[in-house]
Amino acid sequence: MDKKKLSRRKTIKILSLGAFGIITGGSFINQKDPRHIITLSFDDGFEKSSIRTAEIYEKYGLSACINVVATAHQDQFEFPNEYHKWPAGDFNLWNDLKKRGHEIMPHGYKHENLRDIPLVQAQELINKCLDIFSKDLKDFKAEESVFNFPYNASTLELENWLKNRVRAFRTSGEAVNPLPHKDLFRIGCISFGPENIDKHPEKTISEFLEGPPGWFVYNTHGLDDEGWGPLSSGLLDELLDKLTGIENVEILPIIPVLDSI
Ligand SMILES: [Zn+2]
Repeated sequence: MDKKKLSRRKTIKILSLGAFGIITGGSFINQKDPRHIITLSFDDGFEKSSIRTAEIYEKYGLSACINVVATAHQDQFEFPNEYHKWPAGDFNLWNDLKKRGHEIMPHGYKHENLRDIPLVQAQELINKCLDIFSKDLKDFKAEESVFNFPYNASTLELENWLKNRVRAFRTSGEAVNPLPHKDLFRIGCISFGPENIDKHPEKTISEFLEGPPGWFVYNTHGLDDEGWGPLSSGLLDELLDKLTGIENVEILPIIPVLDSI
């Protein structure tokens, strides 16, 4: 056994020491398929946060999952709410981060709530979003992409249409998804805000690691002082440091998970 790798049980305790006390018990160690996959799915594409997120992931040899609004970098972009007031990255940055191995995926044309508008209008906005990505993000192919619904707000009609347009989409639903299989295209997630969320991922990840195998998707946003429900960069660093030391825990963006069946 790799001496650097801790058992999941031991690390759960370490993860839990700070704010939640020691979690005891658990019979998860001898499971046949111990695979626990974790995706931290970073939305909204703030420039400073995205650069920092990528740097922290690179420190551990990992790829970040960054979901960006197609028009947020344009001068005429209207903030959908106060949680978008920080400068967003542009496609020069997204191409650079993609080249460095990070997953850059669409998060709406203008961060619209697609559940609250007519189906045809929602389809038009998604098409416009995917068109911008196809034009401005190198090697982007809509049919290979993951559409991350703004506000995780979708309708069944829209999902049924979208599943033929993209490879997968992320929306509201159970945060613990099944291990990937060929028919998995609807990915659920959890998210928390609007204040700093530092204690929440620690707690929910610890609970996930105590449970059966699966794929946990946590939808986060900016770092430090940026965006809705920000995560401290120091905490992200610590979390990845701990999680990368646990056996059978994988930290991956969405597409490599879907590719891993
Ligand atoms: Zn968003």
